[in-house]
Amino acid sequence: MAYDPGMKPPKRKQLAASEIETDLSRIQQLSQEQDNENWEFRSWLKQNAPDNIDGIVKALSQKYFALIDCTQCANCCRSLQTEFKKSELCTIAKTLGQSIKAFEKQFMSEGMVNPPCPMLDGKLCSIYENRPEVCRSFPHLEQPGFTTRLMGVIDNVAICPIAFNAFEELKTRLRWLQGRRDQEP
Ligand code: SF4
Ligand code: SF4
Repeated sequence: MAYDPGMKPPKRKQLAASEIETDLSRIQQLSQEQDNENWEFRSWLKQNAPDNIDGIVKALSQKYFALIDCTQCANCCRSLQTEFKKSELCTIAKTLGQSIKAFEKQFMSEGMVNPPCPMLDGKLCSIYENRPEVCRSFPHLEQPGFTTRLMGVIDNVAICPIAFNAFEELKTRLRWLQGRRDQEP
């Protein structure tokens, strides 16, 4: 949701393909298998996250936004409810050359809208420049207060490749994972 097709493509650090998981089914499966681990990590973060955790997570988010192509995914737009404010709908309707009444009749009214988002066209957002703020910031890893939003982060890890890979790397960056998976039966 936060991708920007008008932006100059960021320089991509060459990572081995095997280091990044982008398969949505596999991400969902791994997230289910690692559910207990993710909740343990959440508890640990609540007590032990370093002071600069927001900066670390922001850097990880930027790294994976540069490595993962949202235009080949759109899983958030297909899977999550999105909240549209009246003012946002008015702007979108104006851009499309419609009255707000006609727009609401064709697409949606204000409030929570069930997935898939009616503005999704294939894997692209048809109102990209005017998408709601909640879409711009998804999966919300670049906002302050990371450790206060961990329940939502764990939900997003299961559907968003950027959130999944960032969260996995955070476990190793903070040396939380060391030895844990080796000890599993
Ligand atoms: S789910 Fe994540 S990776 Fe996929 S389009 Fe949304 S923000 Fe991008
Ligand atoms: S407006 Fe709809 S299609 Fe566009 S980014 Fe948001 S959820 Fe996705």
